[in-house]
Amino acid sequence: MDRRKFVTAIAGGMAYYGSRPVFTQNSRLGTTRTLNIGTAGGFQLGFKSYPKSFHLNAKELILTFDDGPKPGPTNAVLKALRDEQVLATFFLIGQNAVANPDLVKRIAAEGHTIGTHSNTHPMTMRDLRETTAKTDIEVGIQNISKIMENTTLAPFFRYPGFGDTPALNTWLGSRNIGVFGTDIWASDWITMTPDAQLSLLMKRIRSAGRGMVLLHDIRQQTADMMPDFLRQLKTEGYKIVHMVAGNSPAQFQDAPPNWSSETDRFLNKRSTHKTWPISTPFEDSSYD
Ligand SMILES: [Zn+2]
Repeated sequence: MDRRKFVTAIAGGMAYYGSRPVFTQNSRLGTTRTLNIGTAGGFQLGFKSYPKSFHLNAKELILTFDDGPKPGPTNAVLKALRDEQVLATFFLIGQNAVANPDLVKRIAAEGHTIGTHSNTHPMTMRDLRETTAKTDIEVGIQNISKIMENTTLAPFFRYPGFGDTPALNTWLGSRNIGVFGTDIWASDWITMTPDAQLSLLMKRIRSAGRGMVLLHDIRQQTADMMPDFLRQLKTEGYKIVHMVAGNSPAQFQDAPPNWSSETDRFLNKRSTHKTWPISTPFEDSSYD
C-alpha cells in the first residue's frame, strides 16, 4: 500500500481512493482454514464430473487456477491473492512451467499449493492412447517438480477438459494421486468482460452455496476480475479454504440422488460434433 492509500485507509477504515475501495488489513478476505488432504489410494471429486466432492461448510469456497503459469495474468492473480491474504491451488501445465520457472517458484513461495494439469494439455486424454496419456501426465509431474526443488509438489491432478478415463483414474489412484474436478466454474475460457464474468461467477457461487471454484490464471479477463471478485466474496460473507497435501483421509460429501456428470454430457457431445473448437469446451453451458 502506498503512503497516500495508507493514510486514507487509517483515516476512514474503509474508504475510497480513486475508483477502488481501500481497506485496512483486518478487512481482508483472508484464508479461514486449511484442508489437509491425504491421497492414499486416490480419489475423484468435484460435482461437475463425479458424484462426490469435499465436505465444506456453508459459504466455504476453495479457489483453484488452471493452465498457468503465464507471466502477465498469473502475476496479477498472485498480487490480488496476496493483497487479500488468500491461498489457492494452481494446477500447472508442465510446458508452461518449464517456460516460466521463476513464476512456479513464486507461486510456491507465496504459500499456494501446486498440483499438475498434464504436460501439453491434450484436449482430451480420452482421444489419446493410454500410454501416451500416462506419459503426458508423468512428464508434467517431473517437469514441475524439478523446478520446485525443495518445495513439495502436491499429488493433486486435474485432467485437461475433464477428459478422464477409468483406466487413467485407476492408474493415478495406484500412484496415490487425487483427481480434482470442480464444483463451480467461471466459464472464463469464453471471452467476456471482467464485470460480466464476475456477475456470472457470483450467480453460480450463490446458487451452489459452497464448493471448489475453477478459474484460469492464464486469462487476462480473470486476472482483471480478481480484485473485485475477492472483495465481493468478503462483502457477502464467503470463507476461503486452502487445500494442502497431507495424511488425513479427505472428508467427502455425496451428490444429490438425481446427480449426473455435466462434463460427460459435453464430452460425449463433443465426440459426435468434431467441429467444436477444442480450446473452448462446454461453450454452450456458459450462461445458465
Ligand atoms: Zn486446462
